[in-house]
Amino acid sequence: MESEENKKLSQKIRLLLILQSYDQSIRQKKERLKAWPSILKELDREMEQHNQELESATRSLMEVKARRKELEGKVSELESKIKKRYMQLYEVKSNKDYQEMLQEIDDLKDKKNKLEDQVLDLMEAMEEAEKRLKEIKNTVSEKQKEVEKKKEALKKEMEEIGVSLKRMEAERDRLKSEVEPDLLSTYTRLMEMKGAALSPVIKGVCQACHMSIPPQKFIELLKCQTLMNCPNCERIIYWGEEEMFINIS
Ligand SMILES: [Zn+2]
Repeated sequence: MESEENKKLSQKIRLLLILQSYDQSIRQKKERLKAWPSILKELDREMEQHNQELESATRSLMEVKARRKELEGKVSELESKIKKRYMQLYEVKSNKDYQEMLQEIDDLKDKKNKLEDQVLDLMEAMEEAEKRLKEIKNTVSEKQKEVEKKKEALKKEMEEIGVSLKRMEAERDRLKSEVEPDLLSTYTRLMEMKGAALSPVIKGVCQACHMSIPPQKFIELLKCQTLMNCPNCERIIYWGEEEMFINIS
């Protein structure tokens, strides 16, 4: 039969386990809260990248448009030059001048044709650039919606965490006040040093550091008469298959 001493010790361990579970959840929630600004920053950075793509696509299109306008200007300049030369043909006196003028007209026409080919290429490039810009605009607006949704969800999550943290911290403080001061200071020290103050021992093995407990110690542990620490990792150990220590969360 279980003695009063056993019962008291089991209760102590159980209390510590519940406290530990609170402390660990609180720690996780705080870490999540701490990560919030960097998650937001990351989302903003993602958006910034998309906006830069949009800017560069807009710039490309404008450049192609400007180049096209410039070349079209040159083409019409050449056209009027050619017209002018044709008119001047009537005024030419010598055959030599006439031939020279014809040659000049041919050269101008060549130049004009080459420019017109370039304009055609630019028109194609413009269509491409317009298509690309449209695609990027669509992506950006979708991303924008996505990011806003994510931010909204994050905000909600953080608010919920804030509320549950307050509740959990109050409960944790209440639990703490039930632990004897000496034991609490051991617990606190182990929590700070190792992240967990208690470790279950299953089939003779400490589940935190995976070292075997000497058989004699394991038998003692099963009897649950004194508070014991893992000889290797120092954590407070308890029998991991004991009904009352399982399913604490
Ligand atoms: Zn251990």
